[in-house]
Amino acid sequence: MQHIWYPFTQAKTAPPPLKVKSAHGAWLELDNGQRILDCISSWWVNLHGHSHPAIAAAIYEQAKQLEHVIFAGFTHDPAEQLANLLLQRLPEPLSRVFFSDNGSTAVEVALKMAYQYWHNQRQTRTTFIAFEGAYHGDTVGAMSVGARSLFSEVFSDLLFDVKYVPFPGIHIGDDQVQAREEEALAKLETVLQQGGDRVAAILIEPLVQGVAGMQICRPAFLQQVQQLAHRHGTLLIFDEVMTGFGRTGDWFACLKAGVTPDIICLSKGLTGGSLPLALTVCTEQIYNAFYSDDPMHTFYHGHSYTANPLGCAAAIASWQLMHENEPRFKGMEALHRQHLSDLQDHPRLEKLRVIGTIAAMDIVTDDEPGYLNQISHVIREKAIAAGLFLRPLGEVLYLMPPYCITEDELAFVYSRIKAMI
Ligand SMILES: *Cc1c(COP(=O)(O)O)cnc(C)c1O
Repeated sequence: MQHIWYPFTQAKTAPPPLKVKSAHGAWLELDNGQRILDCISSWWVNLHGHSHPAIAAAIYEQAKQLEHVIFAGFTHDPAEQLANLLLQRLPEPLSRVFFSDNGSTAVEVALKMAYQYWHNQRQTRTTFIAFEGAYHGDTVGAMSVGARSLFSEVFSDLLFDVKYVPFPGIHIGDDQVQAREEEALAKLETVLQQGGDRVAAILIEPLVQGVAGMQICRPAFLQQVQQLAHRHGTLLIFDEVMTGFGRTGDWFACLKAGVTPDIICLSKGLTGGSLPLALTVCTEQIYNAFYSDDPMHTFYHGHSYTANPLGCAAAIASWQLMHENEPRFKGMEALHRQHLSDLQDHPRLEKLRVIGTIAAMDIVTDDEPGYLNQISHVIREKAIAAGLFLRPLGEVLYLMPPYCITEDELAFVYSRIKAMI
């Protein structure tokens, strides 16, 4: 521990990290013997439970066969199978799969793809449009398209300019949403008009903005964003790093919203939370703009571990478990709603919201809203004592459990939360 620099952590003031010895199903086991229920799927990656035997077996079998090989000039079955499986589910025009390592690189790849797509057609398009509150990762390009925030403030001079439009979040009982959607769409239209033929792409976290505090928008909003993108002849990129693989109650948010983007970014749940891997999937039209005799039209991007066979094998095993778990990730919203109705009138909670496997609410505090709201630490500590792992985003308390969580376990989580609040 003395030699490790932990992410998103101020070592001077943070409590020492908890040591995890093992994890099975929805439960983490600490080295002091305490068991805590993983209510947020370990940074939103776990789908089917920890240390799943089918994923473990797939990784082991693959490791004995082919652990890794350079992916330029070589190919292998795990990568090809994974691409085929996903394309059977992703909406039709998405047809080409580019591999990388994590959500941030999936976004970097999408940005570079979009930019060069225009460049290869002799168009200079340098403007990206993103949404207020957006989070797309921590590398410099991904930070640039994210909202300017506490996380990016120090680096603001390094980031390229991006145009932002409002994200019309909703909650249960919200009757103002129509007006907010119209305002956001009007702003988007204005920015598109001003950008003219220099807009490379619109980038959005579809249906749910995660880091912004689980802000949920309506499918109809995304449909109108797509219409505007089409009308103004620009690309639409969906960052489904968090929303992919069942999180919103359908296999992908794009399916739930009935919107087909030109590029989609996938990572977190891709391997069921077992190994780092990411995909950027694009349409044949985009791919064709790079297919050329001109070496300058090549997409010169790649990573040492691109399409790592172990990651691909884990992803294939996880994909098979997605079929088994389909009733669970489709059914979890109804369970959340039941429990939320119980909390609906609590004076210390507001803006209760739910989509698929994700439920969220704002805690009323005297502190300023935002990531640094101190209630987050209070809840985290109390939760551990109550046997839960929760990590509120400032004053936003949310649940995003693995799909293996039982009805009893979920009831346990809500009863503990109610007591804590
Ligand atoms: C987590 C996340 C990322 C970044 O993924 P990393 O694997 O942490 O780099 C990008 N976009 C969204 C929507 C995310 O939730």
